[in-house]
Amino acid sequence: MYVITDNAVKYTLKFLFTVAVPNGISYSVEIGEKAIAVKIKEYTILLPIMREEYSALLSGIAKYQKIQSLTGEGTIPLFFAREKDIFYTIDGKTVAVCGDIVTPSFVMLSRCEELETYEADGLHDFPASQSIACKYGFIDYPIVDEYGLYLRSMLKRLMPGLKIIPNKPKLIPTHDIDDIERFKPPKRIFTSLATDLFRLKSLKITSQSARWAIRSLYLDDPYTHAIKYLCDFSKRLGFVSEFYFMGAAPYGFDRGYAYSKRAIDAIRYADEKGAVLGFHAGYYTTERPELFLQEKERVEAAIGRRAIHGRQHYLRFNIKSTYKMWENNGMKTDSTLGYNEREGYRCGTCHEFKPYDLQSDEPFKVLSERPLIIMDGTIASRRNLTIGQGYHNVKTLMDRCKKAEGNFVVLWHNTGLTRGMDEWFKDVYCKVLTEF
Ligand SMILES: [Zn+2]
Repeated sequence: MYVITDNAVKYTLKFLFTVAVPNGISYSVEIGEKAIAVKIKEYTILLPIMREEYSALLSGIAKYQKIQSLTGEGTIPLFFAREKDIFYTIDGKTVAVCGDIVTPSFVMLSRCEELETYEADGLHDFPASQSIACKYGFIDYPIVDEYGLYLRSMLKRLMPGLKIIPNKPKLIPTHDIDDIERFKPPKRIFTSLATDLFRLKSLKITSQSARWAIRSLYLDDPYTHAIKYLCDFSKRLGFVSEFYFMGAAPYGFDRGYAYSKRAIDAIRYADEKGAVLGFHAGYYTTERPELFLQEKERVEAAIGRRAIHGRQHYLRFNIKSTYKMWENNGMKTDSTLGYNEREGYRCGTCHEFKPYDLQSDEPFKVLSERPLIIMDGTIASRRNLTIGQGYHNVKTLMDRCKKAEGNFVVLWHNTGLTRGMDEWFKDVYCKVLTEF
């Protein structure tokens, strides 16, 4: 069972105060067994910390009260609080926060809850259903950011003259390139069309694919075309698309594509338009970390530069080793942490943050996490939603990211513009980006 250390408390407070006052605020901290005292000017802010209730929190049986969400409709839990709707009380110069915001924030940011499951089941893919976010029903709320915003409103009341410069929210379209050419080599034309006809059983999709197949023989492939289209669409709206390319060999869940002249042309096109070119680490890198560097070097040779941003294929993530592998290989930003089966806030935040190295009890030095909020496959197939429901969920999460002043990180694959995904692309992705 993980024990929350004093270093972990300091790390969590630093994050909460960065959300509260992005332009910085100086404070000192005294950490006790049951409470933390934060001193700011003449005020003392008391934050309870329920270290002994850590396992109750993870099990889903911790007591909580509901407080109003600050990023949208609905409520969020305030753990171990006694009264509903009250975040803090004031007694002279002492302010007492009514529940523990430090423990749940640390669990969400550090992902230490994944450690418990990993140790019990040896899982590499932590399921959303096991998370405290799903157990207590706050997966759709950036709960850590909400606590930070509550601290902000408290500080504003204590110190009306306090200058707060809010963060500007950002929309970041990202695109994992799991496959770069649908009809390469040309013999794939037959297998691919047969899949449309016999497995998808759609004449409409098959005829669209047939037109693309013919076009691929002399002009462009749907997947390289999609890279250019996504790039132009983002640029037109003032966003910068990020494309993550794979270097894995063909095996199992890795397509293992070649960088043909047509593929390189699409990469150059994106590069010239100012897109970010990054690395999509193969499925097997979580078990075989030695593959990471080989694959990364192959991608770097194709894109003609160092790759420092990216994501794990299939969002495969092992809390014990994946971050370490990224840090050791000189990566600056990971954007893996969303769930395959559920949209929402896996880390409880939409802000970029330094992940926590649970083994050495300190944050990682170089690597930052920029959590993934929405993925095309989650809403279009895993969740069994209608397009209308999908749009509603994506728009709700986007609006909350904006209110939380964070990053709305969306993953839309270059394979998600055709082959039955046309309407999802147009009525969800394009619509939501236009409305940001
Ligand atoms: Zn992938």
